[in-house]
Amino acid sequence: MLQDIAPHIYRNQMSWKAPDADDFVLCYRGRTLYCKVEDRNLVLPRVKDVAADALQYAFSIDERADYLLSDAEFEEKDGFSYLDTGKLRSLALGPALMAAAAGESLYRWYSSQRFCGRCGRPMEKSKIERAMVCPACGNTVYPKICPAVIVAIHDGDRLVLTRYKDRPFKHYALVAGFNEIGESIEETVHREVLEETGLRVKNLRFYKSQPWTFTDTLLFGFFAELDGSDKITVQEDELAEAGWFHRSEIPEDQSRISLTGEMMEQFRKGLA
Ligand SMILES: [Zn+2]
Repeated sequence: MLQDIAPHIYRNQMSWKAPDADDFVLCYRGRTLYCKVEDRNLVLPRVKDVAADALQYAFSIDERADYLLSDAEFEEKDGFSYLDTGKLRSLALGPALMAAAAGESLYRWYSSQRFCGRCGRPMEKSKIERAMVCPACGNTVYPKICPAVIVAIHDGDRLVLTRYKDRPFKHYALVAGFNEIGESIEETVHREVLEETGLRVKNLRFYKSQPWTFTDTLLFGFFAELDGSDKITVQEDELAEAGWFHRSEIPEDQSRISLTGEMMEQFRKGLA
């Protein structure tokens, strides 16, 4: 998956370390990132490659830090240019892609916290943690992470696959949805399954989680057994289709980037 970068280690503790010349810079502008692609690998510029101040520490991977730089205008140089971040998902997995995805989530968060949502005054960066603080009213805002579920509904050798409407992702997926306020993550599973497919499930088994930073989401993946009728009633405003697929009919996951893909692979291979 996107975050599986071993033996590299992602460290997201906040730091006020000054940038080194060889640290990486994540320069976002809208939905683009200043970077280049070599042999399907994402290459990020280093501090020494971009003349810039106002670098914001993001995180480190191994001994190298990544710094955010928002909305700078760099010229195309040495193969570097602004590339659409939506297209980076098709690149080879690795620390640079992980950094680009996590960095974009932080970039969106910093960009959307310039003013206090409570009193409207300009926000300031906290000096003790990763947070934005309003000096006028004390409002403190932490990075946005939205919990959501991915559910693999199974019945013997069959799995429910779905296709979403109105989304760029046209391949098969699993039932998915966001947690609502006041709801446990298990209740989210039951509600989303019922809303999207009309099915009921039992014996939830937590599989793995995934930080899906493209949408500021933390995904919780569950396998869930069908409970009762297998008749699917598709929620037509969200799903294009949903149906039962035998293990042998499940398409192989080529990208290896997502929790959804890994869970479908586990079921397809008879491992779940
Ligand atoms: Zn305020």
